[in-house]
Amino acid sequence: MSKLTVRELKVGFRQDGQILQAVHGVSFTVEQGETVALVGESGSGKSTLARMVLGLYPPQDGMVLLDGLDIAQLDPNSLRKSVSSVLQEPSLFSGTIRENIALGRPKVDDEEMLRSARISGTDLFASRIPRGYDMRLVDRGEGLSGGQRQSIAIARALAGKPPVLVMDEPTSAMDAQTEADLIGRLKDELKGRTLIAVTHRQPLLALVDRVIIVADGKIRADGPRDEVLAQLAQGNQQTRAVEKKS
Ligand code: ADP
Ligand code: MG
Repeated sequence: MSKLTVRELKVGFRQDGQILQAVHGVSFTVEQGETVALVGESGSGKSTLARMVLGLYPPQDGMVLLDGLDIAQLDPNSLRKSVSSVLQEPSLFSGTIRENIALGRPKVDDEEMLRSARISGTDLFASRIPRGYDMRLVDRGEGLSGGQRQSIAIARALAGKPPVLVMDEPTSAMDAQTEADLIGRLKDELKGRTLIAVTHRQPLLALVDRVIIVADGKIRADGPRDEVLAQLAQGNQQTRAVEKKS
C-alpha cells in the first residue's frame, strides 16, 4: 500500500523579518502506482512541497497521510522504508559508494545494492574505477561530478524497492544521453510504484501519467500529463501574444 494524501499543506519562512508564505493550502492525492510530476517555475514551492511530503519540513498547517496515517505520527525509520527520496542537493556522506547506497538498511544486500547501482547508472563509473564500490568518497562526494552524485542518490532511493519515491530534479546535473538512458531503465523499475517527481525537464515527464503545475505555492493545474502540458503551452502562447501587443 502506498497512497499519499496531501491535505491543506501550508508553510511559510521568515525572510528579512517578514514571513514569506511558500506553500498556501495545497491538497492532492496520489494513488498507489500513480506517477506524478510537480512542474513550475523556480521558487514556486516545489521543493518545499516535496520536503513536506517526505516529512522533512513540518507543515505549519495541514498534513500528509500515507495510507491514511499522518506521517508525523510514523516512526521515521518505517517512513523511510516506504517512502524514499532523491533531494535536489543529493546528500552523500564520506563513506564508500557501497555504504552510500546501502548503509543502515539490512534489507539491502550486495545483490540489491548492485541492482540499484546498475539502474541508476552508478555502475557506469563505479565499474571503471580501481576500487569500484569500495572507493571512499572524500568530502561527501566533492570529487565526483554532479551527475555522478545524483546517480548514487538515485541508487540509494531505489535500493530495497520502497513503494513510494519522491525525486526532486534528480537528473538536473546529468548530460542528455545519461539522462535518457536512465529514464529508459527507470520505466521498468517504477512499474506499479508511486512516484512524485519534481522536474522542468521534458525527458523526465516521460515517466509520469499526471502533471501538477505549481505556481506561487498553489496548484494551478492538475490532470493527465498531455492535457496539462497542452494547456500550459497554450497559456504560454497567450501570454506571449499579450506581451507582443502591449
Ligand atoms: P522551487 O523548488 O519550486 O524552486 P522552493 O520550494 O525551493 O521552490 O522555494 C519556494 C520559496 O520558499 C522560495 O521563495 C524560497 O526562497 C523559499 N524557501 C524555501 N526554503 C526556505 C528556507 N529553508 N528558508 C527560507 N525560505 C525558503
Ligand atoms: Mg526546487
